[in-house]
Amino acid sequence: MRQLVLFDRAGTARDVGVTLVIDERGEIAADSGALPARKGNYADRDYFRIHRERADLGLYVARPLVSRLTGERMLPFSRRIDKPDGSFGGVALGTLKLSYFSRLFDQLGLERDGAINLYLRDDTRIMRHPYEEADIGVNIAGAPTFERFVAERSGTFVGTSVRDGVERHYAFTRVGDLPLVLNVALATADIEAGWRAKAAVIGTLVLVLCGLTVFLSLLFGRELRRRAAMQAQLTHLARTDGLTGLANRRRFEEEFERARKGAGRTARPLSLLIVDADHFKRWNDRYGHAVGDEVLRGLARCLGASVHRPDDLVARIRGEESAVLLPETDEDEANRVAQAIHRAVATLAVPASGPGVGAVTVSVGLAVDAAGGGAMGDLYRRADTALYEAKAGGRNRTHRAAAPVLRTKVAA
Ligand code: GH3
Ligand code: MG
Ligand code: MG
Repeated sequence: MRQLVLFDRAGTARDVGVTLVIDERGEIAADSGALPARKGNYADRDYFRIHRERADLGLYVARPLVSRLTGERMLPFSRRIDKPDGSFGGVALGTLKLSYFSRLFDQLGLERDGAINLYLRDDTRIMRHPYEEADIGVNIAGAPTFERFVAERSGTFVGTSVRDGVERHYAFTRVGDLPLVLNVALATADIEAGWRAKAAVIGTLVLVLCGLTVFLSLLFGRELRRRAAMQAQLTHLARTDGLTGLANRRRFEEEFERARKGAGRTARPLSLLIVDADHFKRWNDRYGHAVGDEVLRGLARCLGASVHRPDDLVARIRGEESAVLLPETDEDEANRVAQAIHRAVATLAVPASGPGVGAVTVSVGLAVDAAGGGAMGDLYRRADTALYEAKAGGRNRTHRAAAPVLRTKVAA
């Protein structure tokens, strides 16, 4: 009768181990599994000693142990039995087979590196899934992950396992009011596996697009540079004389206008030489236009060699007629340039020519806008008139234009 009252069907549940009443000496007083009770003394068990020493423990969960009666691993739950006078009267003990947990955990179907752990709050691992004998009962006090488990009631974090060095995402909680901590840990590699595959595809696509963008940008940049170079070349060609490589008439007119304005601003003299080949027609008539062209190129070299300042400009303005624009240059200096031109032309040799035409010579008309700012047509016209004078005076010479009559003087 006492057996029925004490244990009823409690002992027949699937994973319940042994249920015992142990007296104050540690001897089995009642045994759910046998009548009369099996023999055994539990006075040496931790849970027995701790209940004997402390009356206030209530339900006590001890470390897993191997049952002396069945040889299986069990998790013992125990309560102290008080005698009517409050002194220690023994222990009521129930055990739960660890196989209960392994079956429970197995149902969850975790990834390869996933794990479920059940700890006693002091520091002992009661159970681990996947199950390995060596993991049971291990003391893991001091492990950083375990510190987190006991510090908070429940939570999640990412940490590295001291057991196998795998980084896992841990979710943990205390089990009711029992001194148990349960955690489920999934390897971050498993969690990220699916994401990684997608990230690899998206990353590759982004890389390809970036590469394509860079490639197209480089191509576009190269094309822009090519166009800019072509533009510069076209601009250069549009302002250069094809035969001699000198500035052409268009550029001369632009530079002349700019120099004239500059001279007006700075009140510095601006000189202009117009240089015309003497009897040039004869060269063409005698030797043909190819030799005539050669002479023109030679003359261009002579003119270029006779000026030295960066702002000086030599331009072919028509046929065998060139202009030399000399900003910030007074009449004497311009005359020195004209003499240098005569000297240079005197040394010009035309290999293809034979006797009869004589040496190449030029006539030069020189005009100076001394105060600067004179009308462009005025300076040009005076230089042209001076050239005519030089021709009329016998050619191969420079004629200086007379100084212009200033309007202020006229007004005075
Ligand atoms: P003057 O001393 O009076 O200046 O005599 P000229 O023969 O030089 O005078 P004119 O201005 O009458 O002759 C210029 C010649 O230059 C006429 C033309 O055939 C020739 N000419 C003009 N442009 C070119 C050219 O690009 N190449 C060649 N070969 N001849 C040219
Ligand atoms: Mg001429
Ligand atoms: Mg001429």
